[in-house]
Amino acid sequence: MIPGSFEYHRPPTISDAVGLLVSFGDDALILAGGHSLIPMMKLRMAVPEYLIDLQDISSLKSISVEGDQITLGAMVTQAELIASSALSEKCPILQTTSLQIADPQIRNVGTIGGNVANGDPGNDMPAVMQLLDATYTLVGPNGERDVKARDFYETAYFTERADDEILTAIKFTAPAAGHGSAYEKQKRKIGDYATAAAGVVLTMADGICTSASIGLTNVADTPLWAEASAAALVGTSVDEPAIKAAMDAAKAIADPAQDSRGPREFRIHVTGIMVQRAIQQAVKNAQ
Ligand SMILES: Cc1cc2nc3c(=O)[nH]c(=O)nc-3n(C[C@H](O)[C@H](O)[C@H](O)COP(=O)(O)OP(=O)(O)OC[C@H]3O[C@@H](n4cnc5c(N)ncnc54)[C@H](O)[C@@H]3O)c2cc1C
Repeated sequence: MIPGSFEYHRPPTISDAVGLLVSFGDDALILAGGHSLIPMMKLRMAVPEYLIDLQDISSLKSISVEGDQITLGAMVTQAELIASSALSEKCPILQTTSLQIADPQIRNVGTIGGNVANGDPGNDMPAVMQLLDATYTLVGPNGERDVKARDFYETAYFTERADDEILTAIKFTAPAAGHGSAYEKQKRKIGDYATAAAGVVLTMADGICTSASIGLTNVADTPLWAEASAAALVGTSVDEPAIKAAMDAAKAIADPAQDSRGPREFRIHVTGIMVQRAIQQAVKNAQ
């Protein structure tokens, strides 16, 4: 299908983009990589009168790694995340997850900002940002504010972001050196969204888990930070009973809809399996 007609704008700065959003109101939408928005426009599920394309705003394209503080500009693409050796070294779960998103063509254009701002529970990066306890920077007519990824998602496609705000950056502290991480995603075929997916970051010392954080993708209307699931691992040797407790805690908060990816019970079951596999892989990756 062909999208409805729209007026196209390509502002050079964040303040110009915010100015356009303010003057056009909710008839305008931000365009980043376009790989979620343009399919929605073709289906006429989004019918913006104005598109504000962020691609000329160079300040949104940087990756900064200063000590343990990581800042990702909203217009950094998935391919750029994958290619960054600094990120692979400090926080490999970003690369592991990005490589499981869609296909190379989409990863070359799709941005991290679009992925987390979109509010689609099928997007993989929001759960990773929740488990990393990331903060999103939003810039609007009243200035800048920070919102935790754990507080950002309200329900499917509804977030804390106001219509006249731009998500400009994602900030987080890299997990401790020697941590292990994994992102396990069950999908029907390459390029598909998850039936269920789980991300895990944990640290081990002398065979005991000293910290853990777990995020779940596409098993509810929002990404889920599985706090109790991770807590079930801390202080244990991550043996079978601890993993079982973590799986059960994750399954207890999963609330997926029945859809083309399977019945609800099946998707809850897969949630547990993804948590199990991600924990086991993260332990293997921990030093
Ligand atoms: C076939 C196919 C398969 C896919 N599979 C997956 C998958 O398995 N996992 C996955 O995670 N994704 C998947 N995607 C989606 C892809 O990762 C998108 O690129 C991503 O969801 C959105 O990023 P974008 O840069 O393309 O954003 P856009 O499509 O341009 O924007 C998405 C939404 O976010 C808003 N937005 C964008 N940037 C900002 C910003 N900086 N501030 C505020 N609002 C903003 C837009 O207004 C729009 O509403 C798939 C896409 C396709 C076409």
